[in-house]
Amino acid sequence: MKIVVLKFGGTSVGSIDRIKKAASIIARFTKKKYKVIVVSSAMSGVTNDLVRKSNQISNNFNESEYDVLVSTGEQISCALISGRLNHIGLKSRSWLGWQVPIITTGNHKTSRITNIFRYKIIKYLKDGGIPVITGFQGINSNDRITTLERGGSDSSAIMLAKFFNAEKCIIFTDVEGVYTTDPNIFKKAKKIDKISYEEMLEMASLGAKVMQPASIQDARLNRINIDVKSAFKDKPGTLITRKKNISNRIITGVTFTKNDSKISLLGVVDKPGVAASIFEPLSHNSINVDMVVQNISADGKKTDLTFTIKSDDIKKTEKLLRNNKNIKFKDILITKNVSKISIIGVGMITTPGVTYRMFKALSQKKINIQVISTSEIKISVLIKKAYLKKAVAALHKEFKLEK
Ligand code: ADP
Ligand code: ASP
Ligand code: MG
Repeated sequence: MKIVVLKFGGTSVGSIDRIKKAASIIARFTKKKYKVIVVSSAMSGVTNDLVRKSNQISNNFNESEYDVLVSTGEQISCALISGRLNHIGLKSRSWLGWQVPIITTGNHKTSRITNIFRYKIIKYLKDGGIPVITGFQGINSNDRITTLERGGSDSSAIMLAKFFNAEKCIIFTDVEGVYTTDPNIFKKAKKIDKISYEEMLEMASLGAKVMQPASIQDARLNRINIDVKSAFKDKPGTLITRKKNISNRIITGVTFTKNDSKISLLGVVDKPGVAASIFEPLSHNSINVDMVVQNISADGKKTDLTFTIKSDDIKKTEKLLRNNKNIKFKDILITKNVSKISIIGVGMITTPGVTYRMFKALSQKKINIQVISTSEIKISVLIKKAYLKKAVAALHKEFKLEK
């Protein structure tokens, strides 16, 4: 059986007309003698609206109820897609995560798929049906509904491709593929024909929303090739695949974040274990700390420590720091409206001078670098958010990404 998994993102099923278009794409694949498994996200805006409602009910909304609530968007889109497929004469039905079932592990809101039962779906495919399966959701060992982190329908698609041994996994979205940088922000961004899992994982983790980071980890682990393409135009997209299939470039992409804040603790009493004492309560409260720098303390007694967090976590973080009896400091400085901008590319492993070129390109535009962090295939810097577009343009040009 030649199976293809087709995943539709929020915008791709964002209106009745778009759902009709998605159904016609699905119909086309059935004519190519594929057995089609469809996965859908919620119609665009629906999940955000549900999250907003949970916040209006309580700022401490129960996490298992959160999953019950926010997973409902997918039920609507899948029923509409199946209904449309029926309308055009195709056999189809919707499947909620628990009906398959799709088994997950881990905490609510951030669960991961560990198993997908094949029997019912295979039988349905053999009977000529098109299963339309809800993305983003599953069920855990306590029979509770779970969700897979925002953007998690990508993970659902990849894990369905794994468990059904699909020949293809196609992610239909609102752009024509993975670009050198967000094409909705920078018009000169270029579509990338092929990208390695490693680079895609860095790009996704560093702000390129087009694929959910966890889904790329799953794809890499299971060697699933992913095609990312437009749900609106029939054009070649981007193939996400193994490194060995790809010719090396120095830099593959530029990514950025838009919702970061910087916190500096000034005059922290410097003693062994101080950083752990600062970050322990933050970690217990699920606050994600990203870039960290600690100054050398000139007198060996006091130091300054700077780190970044998501702007939504500012209030909670400040409260935790001020109430932390295990640390002593003089002041807290909070800077909102900073952005982390990163360049990514496996080529930087073997090419010297990339860091220098990045810093030079930014300094020529008079953009000040506040914090730096690097890994083998990426360099990130923190800058004022107001300079974001200018910085993306400068780096795109410096590394000749528009060519
Ligand atoms: P879907 O609803 O289909 O899952 P998403 O909104 O999650 O779509 O992801 C697609 C969006 O990702 C695009 O509209 C684009 O603005 C954004 N994006 C950010 N970085 C990139 C990039 N490097 N390449 C392509 N799209 C990107
Ligand atoms: N609907 C979910 C979200 O908005 C899952 C997804 O879009 O992949 O996060
Ligand atoms: Mg998405």
